[in-house]
Amino acid sequence: MSTVECRFCRTPLKHNFVDLGMSPLANSYLKPEALHQMEPFYPLHAYVCETCFLVQLPMVVTPEQIFSDYAYFSSYSDTWLKHAQTYVEDVIKRFGFDSGSQVVEVASNDGYLLQYFKEKGVPVLGIEPARNVAEVAEAAGIPTVKKFFGVQTAGELVAGGKQADLLVGNNVLAHVPDLNDFVAGMKILLKPDGIITMEFPHLMQLMANNQFDTIYHEHFSYFSFVTVTKVFAEHGLTIFDVEELPTHGGSLRIYARHAQDTSKPVGRRVKELIAKEEADCFTSLEPYLSFSERVKETKRQLLAFLIDAKQNGASVVGYGAPAKGNTLLNYCGIRSDFVDYTVDRSPHKQGYYLPGTHIPIHHPDKVRETKPDYLLILPWNLKSEIMEQMAYIREWGGKFVVPIPEVQVYL
Ligand SMILES: [Zn+2]
Repeated sequence: MSTVECRFCRTPLKHNFVDLGMSPLANSYLKPEALHQMEPFYPLHAYVCETCFLVQLPMVVTPEQIFSDYAYFSSYSDTWLKHAQTYVEDVIKRFGFDSGSQVVEVASNDGYLLQYFKEKGVPVLGIEPARNVAEVAEAAGIPTVKKFFGVQTAGELVAGGKQADLLVGNNVLAHVPDLNDFVAGMKILLKPDGIITMEFPHLMQLMANNQFDTIYHEHFSYFSFVTVTKVFAEHGLTIFDVEELPTHGGSLRIYARHAQDTSKPVGRRVKELIAKEEADCFTSLEPYLSFSERVKETKRQLLAFLIDAKQNGASVVGYGAPAKGNTLLNYCGIRSDFVDYTVDRSPHKQGYYLPGTHIPIHHPDKVRETKPDYLLILPWNLKSEIMEQMAYIREWGGKFVVPIPEVQVYL
């Protein structure tokens, strides 16, 4: 293989973070007729850059292959909707956005977040490349530009008279193959006194809580706070505040502005988080290089649990069909030999099969019909919500199993 370079600083990538083998695209759910055809698998091997400590996957698939017909509709998670609504209320209160402001969201999905700004009378614009998802947003009255975001799209919007007072990007920074072009585009689209907020999973939490299943082809980059600060600084943007959030197993919400805009001083939380990451050695290679051994141990534990359950005649089914579940199941080699089926509330996934493992996805009612002994919760970040919603499995002695950070059974 020719040398692969860091997508931020161009240093050749030499250091292994974790190698999860060959895996299909995590969101490529299969229709029944596709089960008899070949299926593409791609290397899922994350590296860490020795210069900027960006953890990353080399690009083996193009964004067009991944995002043009994306099956993920944000509006189907109650927790996520509540999170979006609270964010909108907080940010309006803190910065005073009103009918004279322009909010722009990059990767606006089905408009699940912008709808709350619209309700408050704040003008909104979504940018969303997945056509099927963008059309849902437009039908709900959210104007949406159907394009990938970067310098070019930002330039076109500015030429058309659009610039952002608030530029939002939730769970998109990790998905961007050309990171420098994306951040440079944000710089262009932001008004001189505008604010950027972005949320993305925090690498520190991924490592501390063994969330290796959140590594999949759609996630090109994994950021520590120190690294994201460097990336923004390189493009003339300053992060002036940061919050640590519980979403997706531990995310950061960063607040950024133009470097020249000194009206918003860099806050205490920024300095504290940088100091914490430095104290935990996130600016040296050591913690990154020791991560993969823990991942292998988790695979052995999960397989040991499943082998034991099956040898005792127990039945195991899954709950949820999230992308992270597909990384976990493919890496561990768990198919319908261990997990009979999984269920998902999204009608866009029911009747399909999980990529690679070909585990069928049913409506949640199937669980009550078949009364399994174990329910394996794949979206572990929604563990409490799911255990409450599925509490009735206890009627027949059913138990919950959570695979991450390590296998745990809940009665
Ligand atoms: Zn680098």
